Amino acid sequence: MALISSKRLGARLKGLLGIRGRLVLMALILVAPMMVDRVRVLEQTRNQQIQNASEELRAIARNSAAAEREVISSIEALLKSSAYIYAIASQQGRGCAILRASLQVDLPWIKSMSVADLNGTIKCSTMSSVVGIDVSDRPFFKNVLDTHEFVLSNYFVGRGSKTPSIAAAYSTLAFDERDPVIIISSVNLDWLTKIIALPENRPGLQAFLVDGNGTIVAERSERTDRIGKPMDDLPMLDVIGKRDTGSLSMISEDGATKMLAYHRVPGTSLLTIVRIDESVMLAGINNDIRHAYIQLAIVVLIALGGAWLASEHLIIRPIRSMTAMARRFGMGDWNVRATRTGLPSEFVPLARAFNIMAVQLAGRERELVANNDRLTVMASNDLISGLANRRGFQSRLDFEWLKAEQTGAAVALLMIDVDHFKPFNDTYGHPEGDVCLGRIGEALAAVASETMGFAARYGGEEFCLLLPGADTATAMAVGQTVRTRIEALAIQHTGSEFGHVTVSAGVAHAQPSGIQQPVDLIEAADAALYQAKSGGRNLVIEHGLICRVDRAMALAS
Ligand code: GH3
Ligand code: MG
Ligand code: MG
Repeated sequence: MALISSKRLGARLKGLLGIRGRLVLMALILVAPMMVDRVRVLEQTRNQQIQNASEELRAIARNSAAAEREVISSIEALLKSSAYIYAIASQQGRGCAILRASLQVDLPWIKSMSVADLNGTIKCSTMSSVVGIDVSDRPFFKNVLDTHEFVLSNYFVGRGSKTPSIAAAYSTLAFDERDPVIIISSVNLDWLTKIIALPENRPGLQAFLVDGNGTIVAERSERTDRIGKPMDDLPMLDVIGKRDTGSLSMISEDGATKMLAYHRVPGTSLLTIVRIDESVMLAGINNDIRHAYIQLAIVVLIALGGAWLASEHLIIRPIRSMTAMARRFGMGDWNVRATRTGLPSEFVPLARAFNIMAVQLAGRERELVANNDRLTVMASNDLISGLANRRGFQSRLDFEWLKAEQTGAAVALLMIDVDHFKPFNDTYGHPEGDVCLGRIGEALAAVASETMGFAARYGGEEFCLLLPGADTATAMAVGQTVRTRIEALAIQHTGSEFGHVTVSAGVAHAQPSGIQQPVDLIEAADAALYQAKSGGRNLVIEHGLICRVDRAMALAS
């Protein structure tokens, strides 16, 4: 079993490695390096694109952080000048009034300016609803009391305004040691959002400003409902830790890979985070790569199909046509010729050689047939007498016998023997004997043509004359004609009592049927000849074959 299956496998492999298979393999070998190179270039482009995207995200995060820093610096400057103004004005007891008046100019990045005493109670504010509120528990307030430096808070919801906010605070201690207060400014989150530098042409890009607690302070994306909520990728914040800038790639909870860049707003705990879904970012290049793969597949298919078709048209089909021609040729159809039209030029000499060979073989075949015919005639003819030989006679007798069987006609046969021919040879020599046989042959041929008979040399100096359709009387008459014609030749024969060459003939006649055979006719004619010899020679004796057969049949019944 294993042997058979391995043989089958071998045969199948052989089939595959035929001309078509080899051409297809060659096409594949030619196309493969191109494919590999194209894929390599595409993958390189993809990696480059990822790198470019990462750098772009980092630049956005950095620029946004710089813009936020500028605003915060402005707020710091404003708070410090306000602290100074308040300290000077408070010496005349008009701190709040002067401060409110100095903030008449509309500044987009702050919502309000308030003054709190060291117990955390808002003494006065540009927003009257917050006056009297206690902010002593706010971490930023505690921080400013501790440091008396500029402090920026984390996200909180204002107690008076009930709106999301972050606050900036600064102590007037530097300008008024006796009665210092804390100047607090509520930062406009909308403004912080607005200044995030996000490019227009980047769909799916999201930018966040996150405070030190991981709460979203500002957001620029297709949605803005996450402000005040913790950043959804909190583990990411753990990864970022205290780092100021960087980029990373991570798988979010929904399973999507996200590219991300961050940059800390200098001097604060605020962090700008820019992120995008990798699939969105790489949609373009992924699409290009997909298209390129499809193109490659098409090119490969075309190359393979082309190789297959080319081998089919240029090699297999001509070979098939030549094979069919050779097969018809082998079956003896000498007229078949290879058509040269449509053949690849390499096959034209082969087709021409085939056609020349066909013509030559057809000629030789004709010659062979003619030679064969000649040989057949020669094999059936006797050279000395010019008549058919025994073989020729036998086949003619079989034919006439069959014909007579079918038509119900009769057949008569004369067996003719030269009398005293041995003495003739002895007297005149063998060559003269041959000449004598030749002349007898000529005479018999003449009688045959006159009587529609068939003459042959049966062997030695014995002849026969077949007379299809002749009855006994006719046959006897022909026998007498033969005998007299030979006498008339007047060939001298001193060894014969007649003085010239004579013949004896036995005549037999039959009505061919299934019972009799041709050999019966020959034997009957031979028997009659024997009687003619016994009777004194130069005689024609008839043998009653029919009577004999009839007698035999009567005896059998
Ligand atoms: P019969 O009258 O009884 O027939 O006597 P015959 O001498 O003719 O008969 P026999 O059988 O004794 O001799 C036949 C001779 O025919 C013998 C042989 O030499 C001769 N003969 C047979 N074939 C040829 C031949 O082809 N050429 C020549 N020259 N002689 C032949
Ligand atoms: Mg004889
Ligand atoms: Mg004889």
